[in-house]
Amino acid sequence: MIVASPKSVTELKNIIAGHKKVLFAGCGTCVTVCLAGGEREVSITAYAVRMACRLDKNPIEISQVTIERQCDNEFLKELAEPASQVDAILSFGCGAGVQAIAERFPNLPVYSALNTQFLGVLEGQATWTEKCIGCGDCVLAHFGGICPVTRCAKRLLNGPCGGSLKDRCEVAPDKPCAWQLIYERLKGIGQLDRLEEVVPPKDWSTAWYSGARKIVRKEHQV
Ligand code: SF4
Ligand code: SF4
Repeated sequence: MIVASPKSVTELKNIIAGHKKVLFAGCGTCVTVCLAGGEREVSITAYAVRMACRLDKNPIEISQVTIERQCDNEFLKELAEPASQVDAILSFGCGAGVQAIAERFPNLPVYSALNTQFLGVLEGQATWTEKCIGCGDCVLAHFGGICPVTRCAKRLLNGPCGGSLKDRCEVAPDKPCAWQLIYERLKGIGQLDRLEEVVPPKDWSTAWYSGARKIVRKEHQV
């Protein structure tokens, strides 16, 4: 899922300070699961920002709505009516959701309430870890399903840097060395011989370094 974290109430108050009526728009998918931008978080944040604005003697009328997915035009039409009643939207979606709303409502200021962080998994209670940077050319098959592009601080594809200490990464000692994990995983599935293969340099043209990417699946178009 896409993992995001909330901006502070003070930051949000400052972002919307120049407006009188603002719609707080939640998203019911990834950011709901990571406890950052669903209906519950929108309600709690709306209450806190409303109070903070009142204390500043700058009351702002805040309305709320949460749609299924902000990154899907099919659901964005549900924002048309509530958006017509306000002079700005504060989106609790990920960066894609915020931009989708901004494109949909070209005459309305649209702001982000969250900091979009990464593609990750829920490891434990309220704990998420990054697993993928969306490089566009997945090489997980070489590495037993553990991504060195994301999880090795040096993005090494042909073995460890040699700096790890007791299975910890030398760059980030609070994290395991990705190559230790890869070794243990390949050993466990009987594929240690993969470590003898030389992995060629990665084709980074599929990653975002060449600008925003686009996918068109013609076989699914009618
Ligand atoms: S190789 Fe690329 S697509 Fe595959 S998990 Fe790693 S970053 Fe994601
Ligand atoms: S210690 Fe391991 S994870 Fe850290 S940079 Fe070196 S090889 Fe990569």
